[in-house]
Amino acid sequence: MAKASELVTLTAAQMADKLKKGDISSRELVEAELQTIDSAEPTLQAFLARSSEEALAVADDIDTRRAKGEELPSLAGVPVAVKDMIVTKGIETTAASKILEGWIPPYDATVVTRMKNTGMPILGKTNLDEFAQGSSTENSAFHNTYNPWDITRVPGGSGGGSATSVASFETPLALGTDTGGSIRQPAAFTGTVGVKPTYGRVSRYGAIAMASSMDQIGPCARTVEDAAMLYDVIAGYDDHDSTSIREILPSMTAAALQGKNQDLKGLRVGIIKEATGDGFEEEVKNNFSEGIKLLQNMGANVEEVSFRHFLHGIQVYYVVMPAEVSSNLARYDGMRYGLRVMPPADVPQTAANMMAYTREAGFGAEVKRRIILGTYALSAGKYEEWYGKAQRVRTVMIQDFNKAFKDFDVLVCPTAPTSAFKIGEVEDPATMYRNDIATIPANLAGLPAISIPSGLDHNNLPVGFQILAAQKNDELMFRVASALETAFNKKWGAPLWAQLKTPWLDSLSEE
Ligand code: GLN
Repeated sequence: MAKASELVTLTAAQMADKLKKGDISSRELVEAELQTIDSAEPTLQAFLARSSEEALAVADDIDTRRAKGEELPSLAGVPVAVKDMIVTKGIETTAASKILEGWIPPYDATVVTRMKNTGMPILGKTNLDEFAQGSSTENSAFHNTYNPWDITRVPGGSGGGSATSVASFETPLALGTDTGGSIRQPAAFTGTVGVKPTYGRVSRYGAIAMASSMDQIGPCARTVEDAAMLYDVIAGYDDHDSTSIREILPSMTAAALQGKNQDLKGLRVGIIKEATGDGFEEEVKNNFSEGIKLLQNMGANVEEVSFRHFLHGIQVYYVVMPAEVSSNLARYDGMRYGLRVMPPADVPQTAANMMAYTREAGFGAEVKRRIILGTYALSAGKYEEWYGKAQRVRTVMIQDFNKAFKDFDVLVCPTAPTSAFKIGEVEDPATMYRNDIATIPANLAGLPAISIPSGLDHNNLPVGFQILAAQKNDELMFRVASALETAFNKKWGAPLWAQLKTPWLDSLSEE
């Protein structure tokens, strides 16, 4: 019997392989992850809810079917965690907000249905900034999540729970949602891989809406291949989502495998000039340059390209996103589900007062800030000046990207301007918002983008390298990311994730 710590440090691809060969069972795997979760959670607090019994039941079912010789999908029996922004039938789903505390969804998100059909045991729901609004997971209404590389620091956000759970070996895979960087920035902060697919490639049905024109669900993993395998499970047309793209998808797993063994001769790489200058830490830029050298060594032609509006993305985002947030979050009114707070006895017991008291008690400060901002931007008289103008700049940004993708196959830049900061260190919202300066443009333009680790800084903290491709060219993005990951690993002698110190694994018993 393998030791739990040996099982959980396998990649998802290795787990899949061992399951297929019959070397391990899914029950062993799930039990090992549950032990790791028990041991790590007091320190890291990546999870909001656990579904251990359900996970074990799925594992047993898969083990039985496999024993009977049934042909199963590759990830059958491989566990996964789900950001608590995605609804799971029968498992409490809160979006890390008091307003949804205790809510048990009556249905599954399409991505969850797909994972269940694949036979993936779901370990639980991961922590996030309330309604995915934030860059540090400090806005969760319930508790912080701690960065496994340094527990005095944030894991990034909003998907800090998913990123931490994957980095710390509590799960090989997790789902995130990315509206402005919430998969990629936490991946950068935790030394993991995070993917935002092309808008429309993954169904948003059952993803709690934040800003619908930008929201996308995507995979969190330790390797590019693992992320690709999960992508292949969750992506595809869904008639429950009106923005879903109707097309047959190529295999991202095949693209990732191809990338491992291929050079990049002739690949045209554009460095986004605006995302490598002021405001980006020296060490982030140095790590990024190392990645560029590796791309060049593999035969890529690398050139700088300037985007006049790249840095305006943040201004556009902080008008468009709150506008959509204010409208999407109007449904939390105490009427249909979630929290209801009645006004005190001396206040008229009207529906409007009930809504006001419910929303006052149920939403945190950041969510309220955005609802107010968004309502203002959409108000009569201000609409053209704010929302209309922001949408026009968004269109120009999209045109700039379209133009750039005529000259370049992929665009690259650091994922975030800094490495993980200390808990409580960033106090003003505007500084917090700047974290996403390099990730937001992909959401505004609907592009696929991935963050992979590009090394450690002098504090031993991970830094991320971002690759963007043209819409619906996720396949190329995976191929290039996989090639670069392979080159980085060769240079380091081991993947970055394998260098993390994991005291919570040392105490695990033999299976
Ligand atoms: N950090 C960004 C924000 O606060 C992105 C959020 C996200 O991608 N969900 O809006």
